[in-house]
This record gives sequence, C-alpha cells and structure tokens, in this order.
Amino acid sequence: MDDGVARDSSGRRVARTTTTPERVLHRVFRATIKPWEALFSEAAAFAGSIDPSKLVTISHSSDLGEGVVVVWYWGLPKHCRRCGYDLTGNTTGKCSECGTET
Ligand SMILES: [Zn+2]
Repeated sequence: MDDGVARDSSGRRVARTTTTPERVLHRVFRATIKPWEALFSEAAAFAGSIDPSKLVTISHSSDLGEGVVVVWYWGLPKHCRRCGYDLTGNTTGKCSECGTET
C-alpha cells in the first residue's frame, strides 16, 4: 500500500531523500563574426561534454544577423551559491544578480 510515507524494506519510516528534479536546460552559442562552422564546433564541444542520454537536441537559427546555436539538454538547474539566483544559461562566469563568480 502506498500511503505516501517512505519506508525501508522492513517497513520502518524513513526520511524521503529530496532530489532536485532535472529540467531541460539550454546553452546558447551566438556570434556575428564567427562563421557557422565555428559556432557549430563550440556547440559540438559542449554537447560532447554532456552525458549522451541527457542530450535533447541542438537547434540553430539566426537572430538580428547573429548566428545562434542552442544545445538543449537535461540537467540540474544551476544556482548562485551566494544569492541563489538561477544561473541557468549564464555563461559569463558571474552571477547576473550579485556578481559572485560562479
Ligand atoms: Zn548571486
């Protein structure tokens, strides 16, 4: 019977482990002066660093004259260790809220 209480194999109540659910995240590669080949290479290098089972897709388009390549993947959202701001997609190396290095 599932009464919503986690139990071990002998029926004792155990604390549920809290896990942060993975979300589909994305990393954007964009540039005006780089050729598509360079953007694709950067995106491919990043995609190659991800567990293949986590990779969702890679899309590309152009936006206001910039080439845009986006790698979509499953992962845990990244948060600033100082202020907790959601750093998903932030590639600057600094929290955009408080400036702490990530
Ligand atoms: Zn912060």
